[in-house]
Amino acid sequence: MPAPPPFEARLVSARTLGPSVRELTFERVDGQPAGFQPGQWFNAILPVGPGEPISRSYSIASEPDGSPRFALAVTHVRGGPASTWLHELTVGAALRFVGPFGFFTRPAVGGPPSLMIATGTGVTPLRSMVRAAVLAGSQAPMWILLGVRHEEDLLYRDEFDALAREHACVRFEPTLSQGSAAWTGRRGYVQTHVRELWEALRATGAGEPHAYVCGLERMVGSVRAMMKTELGAPRQQVHGERYD
Ligand SMILES: Cc1cc2nc3c(=O)[nH]c(=O)nc-3n(C[C@H](O)[C@H](O)[C@H](O)COP(=O)(O)OP(=O)(O)OC[C@H]3O[C@@H](n4cnc5c(N)ncnc54)[C@H](O)[C@@H]3O)c2cc1C
Repeated sequence: MPAPPPFEARLVSARTLGPSVRELTFERVDGQPAGFQPGQWFNAILPVGPGEPISRSYSIASEPDGSPRFALAVTHVRGGPASTWLHELTVGAALRFVGPFGFFTRPAVGGPPSLMIATGTGVTPLRSMVRAAVLAGSQAPMWILLGVRHEEDLLYRDEFDALAREHACVRFEPTLSQGSAAWTGRRGYVQTHVRELWEALRATGAGEPHAYVCGLERMVGSVRAMMKTELGAPRQQVHGERYD
C-alpha cells in the first residue's frame, strides 16, 4: 500500500505531563480530520539542524474524534535530537507529519477484554484506545497496568483515576519501581503484576482477554515472553508496540 501523503500541522497547545514528558496538541493546517485508529502513530519530520530533517514516530495519545486535532506525548531523552527539539517547540509552529501507521490497534466498539501494559509514554496509544472505547459506550474490561519510576511520572493519572471511578469496565493499576515510603500502591516492574491481573481478568468471565503491551523493547519483549511461556496466551491475543 502506498504511504499516506505528508501533511502539515500546527502546534496549538502544550502542557507538561511529568518531569520529562510534554504533551503536544497539533491541528492539521488543511482542516482535514486527523483520521487514525486508536493505537496508531504518526511520523514527525523534524528540521532539527542544518542538514536533512530527521523522522521520528510518535503514538497518538488522543482518541479519533473527526477533528483535525491530535495529541502526542513526548519523553525528553537526554541528548536525543528529536525529543529535545519537540520539548522546545513553541505554540503556533508548524511541522510535517506522515501517517497514520501501525497495526497496534484495538476497535472502540467490540474490542476484547484487555490488559493494557505500558511503561512511561508507552501508555499513550492505550489512552487513545480507552478513551475511544468509553466514548463509544463499550463495556468490555480495560485494565491499565502502568509502570514508571516515581509517583510524579504517572502520566494522565487523574484522568485514568476518574475514568476508573466513572466506568466499572476501566481499572487503573499504577506500579512504581522507585516509589517513596508514602506510596501505598503496587511496587516493582510491570512484570511483577502481569500474572495476577491476567488471571483476574480471565476470571471475570467477560471473554478471552487480549494483552496490549507498549514501551521500550526490554519490557515489551519480556512481557511477551512471559505471556507465551508462563501464561500460555495465544500469540494472536498478545499485541505489542516497541519504541526502540
Ligand atoms: C511506533 C513508535 C511509537 C513511538 N511513540 C512514542 C511516543 O508516543 N512518545 C515518545 O516519547 N516516544 C515515542 N517513540 C520513540 C520516538 O520515536 C523517538 O525514538 C524518541 O523521541 C527519541 O528520539 P530522539 O531523536 O530524541 O533520540 P534518539 O537519539 O533517536 O534516541 C535515543 C534512545 O532513546 C531511547 N528512547 C526512545 N524513546 C524513548 C522513550 N519514549 N522513553 C525513553 N527512552 C526512549 C531509545 O533507547 C533510543 O535508542 C516511538 C517510537 C516508535 C517506533
